Amino acid sequence: MTWLFEEFQLMCNEAIRIALAQSPKNRFQLTEFAYHRLKEHGLHSTHILAACEVAFAAYRNKARRSSPYVRHPFVKLASQAYQLNHLILRIPIKPREFVFLTLQGSEYHFALIDDPNLKKGEITITPAAVCLPLSKQIHSIEPSGLIGVDINERNITTSSTDGLTNSYDISRVPRIQETYRRIRSKIARLKGSDHRITSELLSKYGKRERARIGAVLHDVSKSIVEESTHKRMGLVLENLRGIRKNFARDRPVSTSLRGRMNAWPFYSFRRMVEYKAAWVGVPVLVVNPRGTSSNCPDCGSRVASLPKRQLYCGSCDKTWDRDVLASKNIMACAVPQALPPRRSDEKERGGDGSNPSSRWGEVESSRGKRWFNGTCNSGTGSRR
Ligand SMILES: [Zn+2]
Repeated sequence: MTWLFEEFQLMCNEAIRIALAQSPKNRFQLTEFAYHRLKEHGLHSTHILAACEVAFAAYRNKARRSSPYVRHPFVKLASQAYQLNHLILRIPIKPREFVFLTLQGSEYHFALIDDPNLKKGEITITPAAVCLPLSKQIHSIEPSGLIGVDINERNITTSSTDGLTNSYDISRVPRIQETYRRIRSKIARLKGSDHRITSELLSKYGKRERARIGAVLHDVSKSIVEESTHKRMGLVLENLRGIRKNFARDRPVSTSLRGRMNAWPFYSFRRMVEYKAAWVGVPVLVVNPRGTSSNCPDCGSRVASLPKRQLYCGSCDKTWDRDVLASKNIMACAVPQALPPRRSDEKERGGDGSNPSSRWGEVESSRGKRWFNGTCNSGTGSRR
């Protein structure tokens, strides 16, 4: 295998040199230019095609600053080039010469590999792992309702159009972050150790922190997507892009709050929800979070703040939990029917209304982009 990795790396770099010298228009032209040179390595022609693909992508990469070069050992194989039978992977080396690899993985991985409904894509093999992308045709759920998801520092609250609310405690996330912050500052204060050792330690603890936080967020996103699949409802999330600007250095917030908000992994949570939902055909809408915690979801009038994350609506004489109120408003952003009836003399909602008219435009425009059209991809990795 080591030999194959080395040869493939050589072939990629040779194809890159040919691309730089002859400026091909596409990877087929590069294959034409490079085929005979790469053939001399004696590998199966599938590796020549893959090396040209890798080389052309590196050559075309607009972001590159220096001459492209393949540094890490790996091999790519198109779906028709390899055979995968439960845990035996057969890959071609030379014409009529194969290598058999035994995959290691969990029951979960093998259930996916053995699923005849999943289409296997191009695999990437590195010395440490095999990465196998799987795809399937899915039929998107025609939602019978919506679930609004409000993301906070210590909890994630959902409200659905059937009137139920759920709260998931994620206070473990800031606690884990605090623990690792302390570990990192201890490493930084280590005396007499050189830069290489401290950076190795930092990377080790950074990986551990991400894994522990990831486990919490995977749990919550899984439950939320399961609820929406079970109820056949779409999901509504806040678009929290730009939240960090509110806590930038020129804003009057405390250093510790700024640090906590900047560390909150809201984007990775949203990505988890989005790909888990896509895999089962649940539509996800993204709405502007502006004003979602300042108006009553029942009547639309402004609410007053009470201690302990409570809010009070004077018109309804009702006390709301701040997170429940926000999740109901987020849900209402995407459901016109969930709004209180509009008076005929009222031209535009906004100001005292719960949903400024501008937000409707954003829901509409995000709907076109976010609605899934049938196919989606997901990846799974199996370690060798
Ligand atoms: Zn009210």
